[in-house]
Amino acid sequence: MSKLYKSNGGVLIIGLIIQQDNLKAVIKMAERSTVEVCGFLFGRWKGGNFIVEEVRFVPNRLNSPTAFDMEPVEMVTAIDEAEERGLEVVGIFHSHLKCPPVPSGRDLKGMRLWPVVWLIVDEKGNYWAYVLKDEEINELEVEVV
Ligand SMILES: [Zn+2]
Repeated sequence: MSKLYKSNGGVLIIGLIIQQDNLKAVIKMAERSTVEVCGFLFGRWKGGNFIVEEVRFVPNRLNSPTAFDMEPVEMVTAIDEAEERGLEVVGIFHSHLKCPPVPSGRDLKGMRLWPVVWLIVDEKGNYWAYVLKDEEINELEVEVV
């Protein structure tokens, strides 16, 4: 795994910017849950950064401690509502409870379908962000503001 990314359509990706309250909300859910929690990071892409403005939880229909799959109807509703407010999907988040904080093989398939930032948190409050670029998983800097 390489540290730092190349480019997104020729533009340098610098990192993911997320407000502390939003990050805490995700971590808190992960701490309380016995299954992986998941959802979207909505926001904007600006100046090479993915800026998260909103976190939206979506139920994990697998109800599994080792995998997730967002409930499809809620997923579409979440995206529609965000788009109405002018926000786009900048990332997908989920938690890892018993597995290492790197994308799993299953996650990698998801990253191909959703080429956005993938934020992974664990139940201890740690977090990491990744993007897939040219079949390579790159770690992104996370700036908590
Ligand atoms: Zn995962």
